[in-house]
Amino acid sequence: MIECVAAGLYRIEVPLPGNPLRSINSYVIKGERNLIVDTGMQRPECEDALRAGLNELDVDLGRTDFFITHLHADHLGLVTAFAAKSSRVYFNQPESEFIAGSRVKGGFMAFLAAQALRSGISEAQLEEAMRQHPGFKYSPPDYPKFTIVADGDTLRAGDYEFRCVHTPGHTPGHLCLYDEKQKILFSGDHVLGDITPNISAWADDSDMLGMFLASLDKVSGLDVRLVLPGHRSVFTDLRGRVEEIKQHHRARLDDVLSIVRARPGTAYEVASQMKWDFVADSWEQFPMMQKWFATGEAAAHLIYLAGTGAVKKTEQGGVFVYSAE
Ligand SMILES: [Zn+2]
Repeated sequence: MIECVAAGLYRIEVPLPGNPLRSINSYVIKGERNLIVDTGMQRPECEDALRAGLNELDVDLGRTDFFITHLHADHLGLVTAFAAKSSRVYFNQPESEFIAGSRVKGGFMAFLAAQALRSGISEAQLEEAMRQHPGFKYSPPDYPKFTIVADGDTLRAGDYEFRCVHTPGHTPGHLCLYDEKQKILFSGDHVLGDITPNISAWADDSDMLGMFLASLDKVSGLDVRLVLPGHRSVFTDLRGRVEEIKQHHRARLDDVLSIVRARPGTAYEVASQMKWDFVADSWEQFPMMQKWFATGEAAAHLIYLAGTGAVKKTEQGGVFVYSAE
């Protein structure tokens, strides 16, 4: 499905079958050189839909550049299949380093394994989750050379002039694109309209939720009339949506804190008692991949609370256990 969202700017909805996100938005700005913002997973259903959309829009890939908001496979996965030799692929430095490191033998596996195990996930669960992880299933074997951009850098495409806005939280290097004159924001997975972005603990246990909340304030101060998110529908009320997302995390922090007050536990144990809107009767019935995402989300909230002093983090045999102060 193609939607014209602004002059010379189109949204191609790329399906993600079997994934709760349902689809990902790939945006196309037509100009002397076209710009494609985000792509899709490297799987046939995505590749076919994106190719059909680009054909319909008569996009010449030989005159097309790419901007990728962050490293997740649903955004970055198809860039290898679509980038021409002459294409520039704009991407952020921290995640380009992360990808390079993950290509070292055992790098990515080791990072994910360490993070999961210290959150209280067992080795057997980890093995099952690894097989389901979209980062393994739907990433290309290699990437084109990236053109590194950072906060404040500008990009021109068609009649638009965008400024990169660094918005760490969903991932450490996440970038939005903002056109000040036209008041348009490509929000990637930083601000979504119909669902809340997943905020998970990262490799080094840095405070991803704290960073995310600060990044929400950063974009909330921008003058925006149209938000173009990575998933679901475009929307207009950025400030209102930022407030709703902050409220969602405040409620989740309360939920996490009351669970830990009742009984100390690992991020996995806390996640098993949190309120989730996945469709399943019980925690036991969640697919392992959803349990893993939920554990990452619980860990991000626990690390934030540890930073405020509301909970205490102690290591017990390589696993972090959280308790109320
Ligand atoms: Zn993402």
